[in-house]
Amino acid sequence: MTTEATRTTQTNGAQVATMSGAEILARSLKQQGVDYLFGVVGFPITEFAAAAQREGIRYIGMRNEQAASYAAQAAGYLTGRPQGCTVVSGPGVVHALAGLANAKANWWPMILIGGASAVYQNGMGAFQEEQQVLIAHPFCKYAHAVEDPARIPYYVEQAIRTSLYGRPGPVYLDLPDDILQGEVPEEKIRWARVVPEPPRTTVPPESVQAALAALKQSQNPLVIVGKGMAWARAEDEVRDFIERTQLPFLATPMGKGVVPDDHPLSVAAARTTALQGADTIFLLGARLNWILHFGRPPRYRPDVRVIQLDIAAEEIGTNVPTDVALVGDGRAVMAQINAALESDPWQYPAETTWRTQLESKARENAQVSAAMMADRSMPMNYYVALQAVQDAMPKDAIIVSEGAGTMDIGRTILLNYDARTRLDAGSYGTMGVGLGFAIAASVVNSGRRIVAVEGDAAFGFSGMELETMARHKLPITTVVINNNGIGGGVSQLRGDRQPPPSVLLPGARYEKVIDAFGGRGYYVEDPDDLKAALEAANSGDGPSVVNIAIAPQARRKPQQFAWHTGRDE
Ligand code: ADP
Repeated sequence: MTTEATRTTQTNGAQVATMSGAEILARSLKQQGVDYLFGVVGFPITEFAAAAQREGIRYIGMRNEQAASYAAQAAGYLTGRPQGCTVVSGPGVVHALAGLANAKANWWPMILIGGASAVYQNGMGAFQEEQQVLIAHPFCKYAHAVEDPARIPYYVEQAIRTSLYGRPGPVYLDLPDDILQGEVPEEKIRWARVVPEPPRTTVPPESVQAALAALKQSQNPLVIVGKGMAWARAEDEVRDFIERTQLPFLATPMGKGVVPDDHPLSVAAARTTALQGADTIFLLGARLNWILHFGRPPRYRPDVRVIQLDIAAEEIGTNVPTDVALVGDGRAVMAQINAALESDPWQYPAETTWRTQLESKARENAQVSAAMMADRSMPMNYYVALQAVQDAMPKDAIIVSEGAGTMDIGRTILLNYDARTRLDAGSYGTMGVGLGFAIAASVVNSGRRIVAVEGDAAFGFSGMELETMARHKLPITTVVINNNGIGGGVSQLRGDRQPPPSVLLPGARYEKVIDAFGGRGYYVEDPDDLKAALEAANSGDGPSVVNIAIAPQARRKPQQFAWHTGRDE
């Protein structure tokens, strides 16, 4: 294989073509389906990033390694193949650990390529020397250092396969300077086979029958759709199942859109009642962790039966014993269940006490939210601001959401109509993922509108990524829901006191940051100005920022339970 980058070297008097480790790495990644690479260049990876561009990988230079590592995992989740992040040695890898940890908590694929100091300087106190494989290891499915440039394709194949197969997750490859620079005669390079799509595992027919029997016995059934089904690309099968059975369903935050949020069988508006009253839960690609209140009382009945579909056998029974285990790929198993229903149809009855209970609670909750939305006083509340964001949202937008109140309240107001159209703080509850996620969503869905709805605190973690958006002319609307603090601040700083820990600068004009990069900024205080600003921000080229000032003490409507279930509940 020869490229414009191929050089020759003299071996035993003959000229042979060579490739550098950086070039072999770039070509291996491209062969394995890595089409996007996010990073911050420097020692010793600059030449690798340039080689990646020559191979046709889109390289997005970011402003901070954390944001780059968040972007890579969102790109992996959205494309269905691990995508890449590359960072400099030492501190660069340390910063990118944040992304590995977040990817592992979400079980999303990504490959981190860390530059490293030269092997022949190991232990000498080399520039940015660090035990990178060791520190990456707890956050990865696989972490390895490459010791020979000729073997790079071998390691890349192994890393990509591990990242993608079974339950996906992050992987790490350590690339020392001398390995990246090493020249290898082309005939010595052993190219690896391309990792095929993951096998889609199915379950025994008797497990399908057991699951359907449990649903048929249930008085108060509930389907919970998690982001595992979004990853599995199971949206057609899950929709088919819901239509066939007419079962009520709820989505987890990133399971939203697998079945559209406005589907008549969604009981999202009666979430607490649905969880508390269900006698049988069909858990599809979701874990009974904090997001689902551990599946335990007081949020669930103590005798709740669980039918659990998950690709990871070790997940079966976490926190609550599972009655029927379906260990397999979400899409393949849902197709099996639909096939069984095709030959022996069954529907949950149209009129039951359970349905009536859920519908009346949903109506009651809608009235409380409507009252909050009708309050158009200034400074405005969350509900008014977020409803305006929803009203101006293109239907096919990808929504990024983070921040405490902004994300919690936004989950019910911002609607998703398709799978993988919501990215948020996720299983790790990480604040600061938003702008990296938005950039990834934009580059893998060229031209599609991305709307990142950010609390002001969450925005601050990676605000300089606005420059990345401007440089790449990405049509991203960043909405800052600004309450002057972490969980709310104050209207004015007092000159005689230090700012309290949760307070950020009152009245900060975040929209002006985008002016510095030639983008469009809008500042809104009056609810009547929201529509025009949001519509303008969502049209036109390149990035825009809408900074919406809300009341520093704006809160969520009263909840039956605290935001997460404590030990004493
Ligand atoms: P959520 O945050 O939406 O509740 P979680 O991340 O907690 O979702 O759970 C997702 C689950 O989906 C994980 O336990 C994971 O093992 C599982 N999963 C991942 N890929 C697949 C797949 N292809 N088929 C079925 N389940 C999957």
